[in-house]
Amino acid sequence: MMIDTHAHIYAKEFDEDRDLVVQRALSQGIDQILLPNIDLDSIEPMLKTEATYPDICRSMMGLHPCYVNADVKQTLATIHSWFEKHNFIAVGEIGIDLYWDKTFKAEQEMAFITQLNWAKEMKLPVVIHTRDSIEETLTLLKQEQDGSLSGTFHCFGGSVDEAKAINDLGFHLGLGGVSTFKNGGMDKIIPHLNMDYLILETDCPYLAPVPHRGKRNEPAYTQLVAQRVADLREMSLADVDAITTANAKRLFGI
Ligand SMILES: [Zn+2]
Repeated sequence: MMIDTHAHIYAKEFDEDRDLVVQRALSQGIDQILLPNIDLDSIEPMLKTEATYPDICRSMMGLHPCYVNADVKQTLATIHSWFEKHNFIAVGEIGIDLYWDKTFKAEQEMAFITQLNWAKEMKLPVVIHTRDSIEETLTLLKQEQDGSLSGTFHCFGGSVDEAKAINDLGFHLGLGGVSTFKNGGMDKIIPHLNMDYLILETDCPYLAPVPHRGKRNEPAYTQLVAQRVADLREMSLADVDAITTANAKRLFGI
């Protein structure tokens, strides 16, 4: 059993062949696929995908920082109402993204803090998206961490020091396709990460690992990320699979 802890297989990129994508994941031993929400439009396809594969897919609920705008209060109210209607495995994906646009930085911070507090109330882990914002995100997380927050920094691509700061707050690191990129710099980082806090993901359809870089990503490729970690740490693939799966099961209560 393995878990792709971050996969958008409800996206339209999979509308033609979603069954085959799920079959290929199962054939590679990936039998749990966690679905992060993005905005209001992604909710319906996400829940439909979960209903089609109820033993495999589990949905999260949250507002992605790139979709925070002037309507943020209304959007958050709608997102929050979903927690009363459906069981979700995590609050996600939430966070801060300062790469594309800083216009709504204050709103992004408000949305992040609001959703962290939902997670505390509902005792759910959080799945955090950061881009050019690890420091800002850690500052907010430190303010809010009362010992009850847990979660992961998905698609981690930071430094060893940042990894340690994240782990010190009790948070995990999600490794994905970027870990396999030859020029990604992660070959120097991954050997120094604390295995107790590593989980695996694809973030499909984006960021496909080598040798599929630039093409559509899918959950079956979680094994390519695991193999990269195994190579860099001189461990067996079976050990990496077992450790990261145990970590993900513990974090998400699976
Ligand atoms: Zn994502």
